[in-house]
Amino acid sequence: MSEAPQNPTRRTALAAGVALAASPLAAGSSQAAGATPLFDVPRVTIPIVGSSQVFPVRRIYCIGRNYAAHAIERGSDPTREPPFFFQKPTDAVQNVAPGTTADHPYPSLTKNYHHEIELVAALQTGGRNVPVEHALDLVYGYAIGLDMTRRDLQNGMAAEKKPWEIGKSFDHAAPLGPIHKVAQTGHFTKGAISLSVNGVVRQNSDLSKMIWSVAEQIAQLSAAFELMPGDIIYSGTPENVGPVVVGDVLVGHIDGLPELRVKIV
Ligand code: MN
Repeated sequence: MSEAPQNPTRRTALAAGVALAASPLAAGSSQAAGATPLFDVPRVTIPIVGSSQVFPVRRIYCIGRNYAAHAIERGSDPTREPPFFFQKPTDAVQNVAPGTTADHPYPSLTKNYHHEIELVAALQTGGRNVPVEHALDLVYGYAIGLDMTRRDLQNGMAAEKKPWEIGKSFDHAAPLGPIHKVAQTGHFTKGAISLSVNGVVRQNSDLSKMIWSVAEQIAQLSAAFELMPGDIIYSGTPENVGPVVVGDVLVGHIDGLPELRVKIV
């Protein structure tokens, strides 16, 4: 089907598109006034300690290879490489209440499912090209999280120079505890971060060993994307990532936050 340049139907559609783009509704919403959604999609939220409110999640950003010893074990030179980021789908969040052990399903397709214990920063304000010295002003609070990884799928895709999204972005791939407000905890720039499996310590490091600090990550991310309220950032894992199997109990620790406990089922 060919389209005439002066097709009146197309002109009308274009004009309508311009009108929509100029309206305030167009910013972040394609929903016309009065239209109702075909069905409801649940909003993803994270509990906030000491608050009746919850934190709505917009995007989940993650930094790769952000502790020198982990960068080396993944085959990178930690002194040379700029930071890189990836995303998990927002609905990969699995909320884990302190004092409970959440059942975490072993995902499909993998035979090498890895733990990565990480500090998570939650943003209350956004911005573009945020200077490092102002970057922490964007942070609302912090949580302890696991960047669960189907390592065999990640490595297999990387070896073929294909996107390794399938290794990182899947259902339940982002277990985490509740958010603690900065006003209550301060910022996390140092302190122990560790993970044990069945009582045996696997990962054990210090937040001060991050190659790129949370402030630097925010600054870098904001050069690539406009950050927005509700964005959360997984700030990288220390060395000694490794596999888990069904029945394993993972206990994550970050100084100043309650433990994160999950059981692989
Ligand atoms: Mn990670």
